[in-house]
Amino acid sequence: GLSALAGNGKGLQISGVKDIIAVASGKGGVGKSTTAVNLAVALANRCQLAVGLLDADVYGPSIPTMMKIHGKPEATEDLKMIPKENYGVKCMSMGLLVEKDAPIVWRGPMVMSALEKMAKGVDWGKLDILVVDMPPGTGDAQLTISQRLQLSVKNLSVLASRGVLGYSGGGDSTVFTVMSFKLLCAIIVSTPQDIALLDARRGAHMFSKVNVPVIGIIENMSCFMCPHCSQPSFIFGEGGARRTGSELSLEFLGDIPIEMDIRTCCDDGVPIVISSPDSTSARRYTDVAQKV
Ligand code: ADP
Repeated sequence: GLSALAGNGKGLQISGVKDIIAVASGKGGVGKSTTAVNLAVALANRCQLAVGLLDADVYGPSIPTMMKIHGKPEATEDLKMIPKENYGVKCMSMGLLVEKDAPIVWRGPMVMSALEKMAKGVDWGKLDILVVDMPPGTGDAQLTISQRLQLSVKNLSVLASRGVLGYSGGGDSTVFTVMSFKLLCAIIVSTPQDIALLDARRGAHMFSKVNVPVIGIIENMSCFMCPHCSQPSFIFGEGGARRTGSELSLEFLGDIPIEMDIRTCCDDGVPIVISSPDSTSARRYTDVAQKV
């Protein structure tokens, strides 16, 4: 019902999907995909939700490796792609559709049509949450994805009139307080390093331009616990994302240490939330999932 409304305007309808969470970063290599994967797996396994994971990082799709999925997706009778499921999460990635070592050298419109196919042309079934691993940065592709995935303002007012959304204001300053239906929202991942935080700020501003609420910021690689002396080293600086979050009035959703196991687990295709569910890091991801 609600998601059907989303199809009327410029918003991209993904039938059966209740909420969409975009995991974004201003800069590449800060751990956005690692966070998206562990978050999705924690939401499915710890919070018992029906979860999908859409790898929209079309230029460098890493979800197939991190989630250990492979092979071309099968199609349903009405020619929708069947997502590959692992660890209780339904996944779709451009990495499944192109040859492994093929360079992805596309222009913006091709990226958009590919994304649209991945989102709409997939038989997601009923999902509580679709986690979208966004391409890094704040360029055209990111803006367009954000705009296309969200509901149009017109549809938001329809929802508001039905009491689904709290609604105030009008025109550009329209403010929506989400009550029972969260729509598209974003989470920003950053390391505590100044240069990454600068880009994280850009990301936050991009989402506010297209009226996508940012639910918070996650600090990744916040500190390194030395296995030899058990002392923390703040390799990328200390507390930067928490400070930037409070400057931008974003909720601080948690910090994840830089840890060998997080990296090796992702490389092996078994996220740490699955391989060592009782580890401190797995618990950090679960804490974030519960806040979401
Ligand atoms: P992005 O999606 O932002 O480009 P990735 O999630 O691909 O970043 O992470 C980049 C690299 O850093 C990967 O090799 C990943 O395994 C590693 N990595 C990410 N987060 C952590 C962490 N908390 N501890 C250790 N390694 C990490």
